[in-house]
Amino acid sequence: MAFLLRALCAAVALSPCASAIAAPLIASEQRIGAIVDAEQERTVAMLEKWVNQNSGTMNFAGVKAVGDMLRVELEPLGFKVDWIDISTANRAGHIVARHKGNGRGKRLLLIGHLDTVFEPDSPFQRWSREGNLGLGPGAGDDKGGMAVIVAAVRAMKAAGTLKNADMTVFMSGDEEDAGPLEIARRDLIAAGKWADVALDFEALAQVDGRDMGSIARRSSDEWTLVVAARSGHSSGIFSPSAGSGAIYELARIIDTFRRDLTEDKLTFNVGLIGGGTSAELTGDNLRIAATGKTNVIAGTAIARGDMRGISPEQIARAQAKMRAIVAQPLIGATAEIKFAPDGYPPMAPTEGSRALLNRLNQVNRDMNLPEMGELDPVRRGAADISFVAKDVDGLVGLGPAGSGSHSPREKVDIGSIYLQAKRAAILMSRLAKERRPR
Ligand SMILES: [Zn+2]
Repeated sequence: MAFLLRALCAAVALSPCASAIAAPLIASEQRIGAIVDAEQERTVAMLEKWVNQNSGTMNFAGVKAVGDMLRVELEPLGFKVDWIDISTANRAGHIVARHKGNGRGKRLLLIGHLDTVFEPDSPFQRWSREGNLGLGPGAGDDKGGMAVIVAAVRAMKAAGTLKNADMTVFMSGDEEDAGPLEIARRDLIAAGKWADVALDFEALAQVDGRDMGSIARRSSDEWTLVVAARSGHSSGIFSPSAGSGAIYELARIIDTFRRDLTEDKLTFNVGLIGGGTSAELTGDNLRIAATGKTNVIAGTAIARGDMRGISPEQIARAQAKMRAIVAQPLIGATAEIKFAPDGYPPMAPTEGSRALLNRLNQVNRDMNLPEMGELDPVRRGAADISFVAKDVDGLVGLGPAGSGSHSPREKVDIGSIYLQAKRAAILMSRLAKERRPR
């Protein structure tokens, strides 16, 4: 009966099932839960080992070592595991692990990453426990996500639901600091074109202690604004001949951005600014060397910032507005804005992704768990799933809950690893049974 109800929900549009009642888990799904629980200690020991292996993005040997640790988990389950070298992009590489199923069910792409923001010179290198919390570099982001994947597919294997599943696990080695995208994201994008469903095993979002579903991520782009103006004696400022100088022009532009670029889900930050008689960005784009005197009209000014939006259309609209604002300079000034080519694209919410969240909520109901509401994407940054979002529907945040990621207080909620593994394994088992569209 449970199976019939679920088959019906999968066959018809999902909305009638949004309020569907819970159905008991079928035998293989119950077995998944039992196996994840039986293997708790194994899973946390595996995570501890991974965390203690440094894999800062630029520690290529460390990233590869974590990839090898994942390989030894996945190969015995029937995955064909390959290392994709991307040294031409000055990054380590990626792990791609493929499981061949019966070729009929939905093709699943599981996304996460091997690297962390903590390079070998960071003081934060080791795993430790505080009750049900695990502390360590990458404990949640994203070695915790890798642990969810391994716990989930091991349970699927033992419960017999992996056998027919066509699945690719793609773990980037440079999620935290991507190499040139043309090389560094080429293989992930290809995997996205192959897949019917993309699942991102980054941190589970929680709002007021409630687990949230997530089907969108905003983009992340960088821009640089450079203003040049006539320099001269400050006594003449604002006169037609002297003009306003570069700093006033820069201030006009960024304040007009703030007042005119008001759209839901769009944000833009100015993160660095400098100006004076001379101003120059240093090679790493993190510093501006500026000189100036109080009685000299500034001849040059520079600002750098980011921009985050929810769809390619919104980004294009915002960039056009920014260019138009820049193109109306104050007297005596000229300005130019450049958008960096290697931004992260947005993952816009789609009806297909929303239907996937409905499927996940059916799993929640059947597991007697509360339903997960849809997270506002303003609360999330960009990530690797964004690169496949234009080709495939997806769910974000199937990794564990935690806090403090990218900081030396990074913690993972260990119990959430098991819960997320069960949810993901049951969802994936159901999706693998659904006929893929032709
Ligand atoms: Zn991450």
